[in-house]
Amino acid sequence: REPGAELLRIDGASKRFGGLQAVGEMELAVREASIHAVIGPNGAGKSTLANLLTGVYQPDEGSFRLDGVELAQLKAHAIARSGVARTFQTPQVFPHETTLENVKAGFVDVAQLPLWKAALKPPSQYRREREIHDRAIELLDRVGLAEDASTLAGSLSYGKQRALEIARAMAMDPRLIVLDEPAAGLNPTECDGLAALLLQLREDGMAMILVEHHMDLVGQVADEVTCMDQGRLLAHGSAEEVLADPAVVAAYLGV
Ligand code: ADP
Ligand code: MG
Repeated sequence: REPGAELLRIDGASKRFGGLQAVGEMELAVREASIHAVIGPNGAGKSTLANLLTGVYQPDEGSFRLDGVELAQLKAHAIARSGVARTFQTPQVFPHETTLENVKAGFVDVAQLPLWKAALKPPSQYRREREIHDRAIELLDRVGLAEDASTLAGSLSYGKQRALEIARAMAMDPRLIVLDEPAAGLNPTECDGLAALLLQLREDGMAMILVEHHMDLVGQVADEVTCMDQGRLLAHGSAEEVLADPAVVAAYLGV
């Protein structure tokens, strides 16, 4: 596959928690219509990097440029409006709302069309609600939850809650989605479904950062892989290259 143009570039990203350098001088680039997997042992700093990019934490240093626009000083909602959506390591759904309402919440988060689409005229409120409903149904269908639209999100299986999170992230009409361990807790069938969904999203032009431990999934979908260890960049390359790198194997074995 031809790689797309560079969409995101993270340079010199650093974050300390007290005496701990959770992320140190990390760099990472993501191309359009591609999947960049971030692997590394527990505590390597993967989730912290995702949290820095999405504004959950402010970086101590570093730049996070999306299509040339610096995100580092922006608040989480502004970063979301700029086109960066995410899912969490532990699924965050509203358990007492229906699956459909949960997806609609993805639109409410940004209230308006994303900034990067601001050139488009905002539709009337009525039309907006209609559109949100239709688009939410479409997204549920997309992630395999069409039948669950009126089910309370809290009673969905864990795998379906993860799919719901992805649908909600998609509702923001993002340019980049950051997925923090989406395969965690999935059974093999659900994991296959996730792989198919990620490939479909990529086909549609979506850029993704896939933080993942599940190496089969990484090997199946990743265009490039970055391995972190102790907050730092350990290796970068194709899945084959990185997974065969002795330093990567050693980091996973903890030696
Ligand atoms: P990973 O996602 O790769 O498992 P994390 O980014 O969650 O790693 O954590 C990296 C390091 O930063 C760990 O040592 C973790 O304990 C620490 N850490 C993460 N978040 C916080 C926080 N909010 N406060 C203090 N330490 C944190
Ligand atoms: Mg993590």
